[in-house]
Amino acid sequence: AKKERLDKVLANMGYGSRKDVKKFIKDGRVKVNNSIICNNEFKVNPYEDEIFLGEEEVLYREYIYLMMNKPQGLVSSTDDPRTKTVIDLLSEEYLIYKPFPVGRLDKDTEGFLLISNDGKLAHELLSPKKGVNKKYYVEVDGYVEDKYIEVFKKGITLDDGYKTLPADLEIINGNIISKVYLTIQEGKFHQVKRMFESIGMKVLFLKRISMGPLVLDQLLDSGEYRELTKTEISLLK
Ligand code: URA
Repeated sequence: AKKERLDKVLANMGYGSRKDVKKFIKDGRVKVNNSIICNNEFKVNPYEDEIFLGEEEVLYREYIYLMMNKPQGLVSSTDDPRTKTVIDLLSEEYLIYKPFPVGRLDKDTEGFLLISNDGKLAHELLSPKKGVNKKYYVEVDGYVEDKYIEVFKKGITLDDGYKTLPADLEIINGNIISKVYLTIQEGKFHQVKRMFESIGMKVLFLKRISMGPLVLDQLLDSGEYRELTKTEISLLK
């Protein structure tokens, strides 16, 4: 693996400016593999060498992967002049990685949102060619009839003339307010809401419960997030 300058690694990890970390090194506060290193140009392999700043081990990693249960009322972008974003919920320690939401949920949509800084993975998950499944729990105003299972399976034409790919509608119960699951392989703007609009129905509540192999962790309250486990990350790749 590539070796990098010690001062650069520390600064990249958010331990201070280049100037700050040079001083830490010069002051003898940095150890690499148990030896104090006072030369800031010293080359390290940040993945293999054991680096300590004072008592704290510097754990270097390139990518972060977080699963969030997105609450309503926040936008899923990295910055917005008017509204709070999902990134605003993250603790400071994650911000140095410059994370962004992988795909979008509407402001009033809840549920599974992957947040990462892995651009390649984001591209793979969002590429229409890959057809990654997104499963939503939907509450719809009115009685969703069984016949729509077939209609959604065949694909339905949206208001702009776009015909959707086959989608899987599962009716939990049809009632005055119907509860259903809808799984789609694509992610057009407001797609789920517009699919129901196409059959003359209105979505009242929308929550994403899974994306590809990952399922929203039931232990996450609205607005909470956690890092993906190693197993979950391996499922994505
Ligand atoms: N479909 C929608 O209409 N909104 C979302 O946020 C996600 C899918």
